[in-house]
Amino acid sequence: MAHRVTLIPGDGIGPELAEATTRVLDATGIGFEWERVEAGEAAIASHGTPLPDEVIDSIRQTRIGLKGPITTPVGSGFRSVNVGLRQALDLYANLRPARSMQGVESRYTDVDLVIVRENTEDLYAGIEHMVGRDAAESIKIITRSASERIARYAFDYAVANGRHKVTAVHKANIMKLSDGLFLESCRTVAAEYDGRIEFEDRIVDNMCMQLVQKPDLYDVLVLPNLYGDIVSDLAAGLVGGLGVAPGANIGTEAAVFEPVHGSAPKYAGLDRANPTAMILSGALMLRHLGYAGEAEKVEGAVRDVIAEGRATTADLGGTTGTSGFADAVIDRLGAPSAVR
Ligand code: NAD
Repeated sequence: MAHRVTLIPGDGIGPELAEATTRVLDATGIGFEWERVEAGEAAIASHGTPLPDEVIDSIRQTRIGLKGPITTPVGSGFRSVNVGLRQALDLYANLRPARSMQGVESRYTDVDLVIVRENTEDLYAGIEHMVGRDAAESIKIITRSASERIARYAFDYAVANGRHKVTAVHKANIMKLSDGLFLESCRTVAAEYDGRIEFEDRIVDNMCMQLVQKPDLYDVLVLPNLYGDIVSDLAAGLVGGLGVAPGANIGTEAAVFEPVHGSAPKYAGLDRANPTAMILSGALMLRHLGYAGEAEKVEGAVRDVIAEGRATTADLGGTTGTSGFADAVIDRLGAPSAVR
């Protein structure tokens, strides 16, 4: 039976990346039925909103979304589609793996990190107000339930994916109550995994320096929303930038997989953008659906094609287009992987 997946091609380079990615995922032979819905600029034109109800309804039914990047119109008054999806579907865990790839220029060759970012609270709750004319206040919300839930997700992910250590990242030396509660919640959950997964914590500023100097010392990191946003971009930078960085937003009822980068409007329709991040997001989706072997094959094929350097896109110094890169990955899917 085919898996029904809600496909949101998105704006800018999104539709080309979605086409490349669905072709690669179809080539695994698993069988997908893509339920295509519009969000973003196209939906504003047809529905008067960038996030029509039918998008949420479709994901509620299929429980799985594969999404291209969406242009956020500046100053239009529309709320962000990404924030809207996260809130409507309670996608509480943002998962961003960062792994070095041969053939992608970067400072290190052996980075293999997984960032688990809390997606629903912290300063992103958006509760701000002016205090008189010359001061502003933003309220940082940290709850025990959300902190324990994200910590449990990080530990379960570590167990399921053969990882050995979880590091909780915080600033509890200064924010003793809010970050203190996050750290205490992580420690409570860590005790349940004692003897199976190692646990440690780091203060966020030290964590940034350590990641730049010794990224190989770290494995899975769990962070509140704001630190997670910043540190995951730092980790993406360590492995060659946002163009190759996949992501997932996971909840108990649904999950949405998407590249970390944006809609790169200047490359739209030119068959020039790199589909790696979206294809690797598709591989995360395969793993989520229980197809770990197929996910590994897709990741291996992408890594091989990039390492060989014969069919890479312009951002990686090649001359191959979006769709030609997907063809090379599909060709490679059948062959045993040479590069790890
Ligand atoms: P961007 O990620 O679109 O582009 C940053 C730079 O990286 C540009 O030079 C771009 O050309 C390049 N780039 C990005 N992806 C690439 C790819 N796959 N292949 C080759 N080059 C690539 O970021 P931006 O310019 O800040 O944002 C553009 C739009 O995307 C904005 O409207 C922004 O709001 C939106 N955005 C959406 C998401 C999302 O939907 N998840 C995320 C970030 C930005």
